[in-house]
Amino acid sequence: MSKNDQETQQMLDAAQLEKTFLGSTAAGESLPKNTMPAGPMAPDVAVEMVDHFRLNEAKANQNLATFCTTEMEPQADQLMMRTLNTNAIDKSEYPKTSAMENYCVSMIAHLWGIPDEEKFGDDFIGTSTVGSSEGCMLGGLALLHTWKHRAKAAGLDIDDLHAHKPNLVIMSGNQVVWEKFCTYWNVDFRQVPINGDQVSLDLDHVMDYVDENTIGIIGIEGITYTGSVDDIQGLDKLVTEYNKTAALPVRIHVDAAFGGLFAPFVDGFKPWDFRLDNVVSINVSGHKYGMVYPGLGWIVWRKNSYDILPKEMRFSVPYLGSSVDSIAINFSHSGAHINAQYYNFLRFGLAGYKAIMNNVRKVSLKLTDELRKFGIFDILVDGKELPINCWKLSDNANVSWSLYDMEDALAKYGWQVPAYPLPKNREETITSRIVVRPGMTMAIADDFIDDLKLAIADLNHSFGDVKDVNDKNKTTVR
Ligand SMILES: *Cc1c(COP(=O)(O)O)cnc(C)c1O
Repeated sequence: MSKNDQETQQMLDAAQLEKTFLGSTAAGESLPKNTMPAGPMAPDVAVEMVDHFRLNEAKANQNLATFCTTEMEPQADQLMMRTLNTNAIDKSEYPKTSAMENYCVSMIAHLWGIPDEEKFGDDFIGTSTVGSSEGCMLGGLALLHTWKHRAKAAGLDIDDLHAHKPNLVIMSGNQVVWEKFCTYWNVDFRQVPINGDQVSLDLDHVMDYVDENTIGIIGIEGITYTGSVDDIQGLDKLVTEYNKTAALPVRIHVDAAFGGLFAPFVDGFKPWDFRLDNVVSINVSGHKYGMVYPGLGWIVWRKNSYDILPKEMRFSVPYLGSSVDSIAINFSHSGAHINAQYYNFLRFGLAGYKAIMNNVRKVSLKLTDELRKFGIFDILVDGKELPINCWKLSDNANVSWSLYDMEDALAKYGWQVPAYPLPKNREETITSRIVVRPGMTMAIADDFIDDLKLAIADLNHSFGDVKDVNDKNKTTVR
């Protein structure tokens, strides 16, 4: 070989190496963090760099903290891959995705007590969103704007923010989106503290927080902290009573982010949805018990009228030579999630969702039984309603570790089980919570309980002598 040939060969070898991940220059260097790399790398190398980097992220099966879907059928995965490059907002380019969106809204509305003969667009209305947060924002905005119209008509000077700053009433254990809503739109955030042992809306006091400036009351069908539910039927009765004499009748929006696609399929829930007269809108996350990957949400308004969803929240977008209403806040995002939700509804049907959710409930009830057997936990939420397990250490548990320590001990076995304080008024109570999702089979639950036994043995061992759990410093301070 000539010198030239040799150099060419070396260059070819080097180029070849740069295509093999382990031999590449990139694998021997830290990941680019601050500025974009100067040159390209081979796609096979780049993909390995990313995959290796995220290797120690949460293992879906052992993540008992999240509500979000981490597992779909391979057919759904492929469908989503094929539709990732679509844009849900572009209704004239993707009219079928738009149609599927409406079909899903309709199916969900009918699960929530809208009579079967009523039709999307004529009687009720709704939209997909990127999650419940967007749904909550839209629900809150509709309450705010319709209140403004009604308040004006009733002669209130709504520009006088001192006398008529709008307010929203909700129990204190709410998801952060409601605080965001109130902050963004300058609404007074009125949180009803929890009372006694009940970790839900305090019906004895909620109406004390309501006045003519109340844009609405939020009922939560599935409180994120504990998995308990507000008594929305009881709330509805109070609101009906209040509205009989109120100058400005008040309305209910239900945040059913995770309960909304669980409760309709299993027994044991009081009416919480459009079966109740004062419920005007409901949101749910498609990516929780709707069993689609994040981000997908839904909101439905019970009547397609300006009195419920005001005119100014409907924006006209082109659709097949004419136009339709766009209600969502977000604009462009993939249509894959809508396709996947529609797939799930077709694939499982009512019977399928029922079977899946009943299995989920069975697992949650079994976990409660097993947790009771340890003899050191008080069960706060037992899985008889939503499939959430929430517990605290009993006062007489006689251990010297806290649930925060248990969180760490379980993490060593790969399980994520968060510990945190209850909302205001009961902050001194530390709880642990498990969210049982579809995909958490009984076998996984059994595995978890086995590891919990080991983790507790580890804790007792490393904390030495068993001490009095009543020592607050031990149970509340990490
Ligand atoms: C999860 C949750 C939300 C936020 O939902 P995203 O879909 O994550 O935006 C709102 N409210 C409640 C009660 C929730 O559990």
